[in-house]
Formats: sequence, C-alpha cells, structure tokens
Amino acid sequence: MARARFVAGNWKMHGNLAQNQSLLEMVISGIRTLQDVSCAVCVPYPYISQAQLMLKGSHLAWGAQNVSQYHQGAYTGEVSADMLADLGCQYVIVGHSERRTLFGETDQVVAEKFRAALGRSLMPILCVGETLAQREQDETEKIIARQLDVVINLAGIDAFKESVVAYEPIWAIGTGKTATPHQAQEVHAYIRNRIAVHDRKIAENIQILYGGSVKASNARELFEMPDIDGGLIGGASLVAAEFVSICLAAQS
Ligand code: PEP
Repeated sequence: MARARFVAGNWKMHGNLAQNQSLLEMVISGIRTLQDVSCAVCVPYPYISQAQLMLKGSHLAWGAQNVSQYHQGAYTGEVSADMLADLGCQYVIVGHSERRTLFGETDQVVAEKFRAALGRSLMPILCVGETLAQREQDETEKIIARQLDVVINLAGIDAFKESVVAYEPIWAIGTGKTATPHQAQEVHAYIRNRIAVHDRKIAENIQILYGGSVKASNARELFEMPDIDGGLIGGASLVAAEFVSICLAAQS
C-alpha cells in the first residue's frame, strides 16, 4: 500500500500578523479539495495562537519549529513540549540544520528534543542531512547514519511509528540548489534501509520528506521517486501560490 503524502512548510523567522493572515487564508482555500496529502505549516512561536485560531476546521495543520528537551523549570527562553501540546500543536521540527549549525544543537540534544516531543504526543519531524564538504568526501551515508542512530538509541525504534524524517542536504537549503531526484532518492532509500535494520514494518510506513529548495517547478519530479513521501518546504512556503502548487504536486 502506498504511503500517504505529507508536505510541511517551515516559515523560519518570517512573517507578521497581517502577512500570515493572508498567506494562511490563501493556502487554506488552495488546498481545500486536496486528497491523500496532509499539509502543515510550522510557524514561529508568537504566531502559534494565530495559526491555532485560523486553521481550526481546515485541512491545514500547524506545528512549531523547535522544542525544548526539558520538561519544565529554570530554562529562560525555552518552550516545552507540554506547552505546545497544550495549544493543540501537532508537529514539531527537530534537528533542523540551522538549529544544529547556528545554535550548536548536537545529535544528542536533537535526540532528547525528539523524545520530549513524542512524550507529549507531538509528531517530530526529524531533519538529517550532510554538508557539501561531507558529500564531496563521500560521507553522506556516514553522517546520516550517525544522526539517525543517536535518535534510535535514545528514543527506541518504536518511536519512529509516530514520527517523520526529513532529508535536508545542507547545501540545498535556501541556496536554490536542489538535489536531483536521483540524488535525493538514493539517500531516502538509505534512510529507509537503516530503519529497516531495526524494524521493516516501521521503515515501510514512515514518511520521509525531502527538503532543500523545493519549488512548484521541481516538486513533482522529486515526489515521483519511490522513497520520497513529500517535502519540507522553506522559502516557497512563504508564497501561497508556490506552497499550494507543491501540495498539489504531492497528490498522486
Ligand atoms: C528548510 O528550511 O527546511 C528548507 C528546506 O528551506 P528551503 O526550502 O528554502 O531550501
């Protein structure tokens, strides 16, 4: 049986109340007839209540872009999984390369965040991916294996029943350089096989998204690959027509 498709937008640190309102209205209307594709937007924390109110009863879900690994306490500036769950959050991105490289999140911290999210019934979208230098040194699989294994060891393979993996080659994020469908497929198949070593059924069912300069013009060819189950979309998720077209391209 084919896996359902999923397209998630990552707004990063963009938006304001007025812009978000028109973007969300256009996306809600653009995807209302969509079938067999789930769509979500991961919004900055201050706009969570706006998303919560506007998306109620629509086909568009919402999520956050980060979560604390801690449950509660003296962690100024942090937001816990409990708090997100309290507001009805469904998804949370963990281990985005910008968090890993700009904010020093290690594989271990990412794994703890992943576990914290699951513990509160949020669906983590776990990002993995290599730098250009790592790809050129033929280290892509080694890096992806390490990033995945730390999470599997801490959270257990069963945790992947309720999570999504996003392959995001760092050299393709926000650069306009997309991995070719063949390059992406190769890594997606590797990720699925790596999970299958632990549990074949979980590997067959897990959604593996591709992220890295996905646009309306290249989405379909990526989504046609057998192990690419949708996309994690940065820049193009801020343009309603682009994001809607990408969601439509995910429909088989
Ligand atoms: C991202 O931020 O996760 C991303 C994939 O960005 P972009 O689509 O802009 O490359």
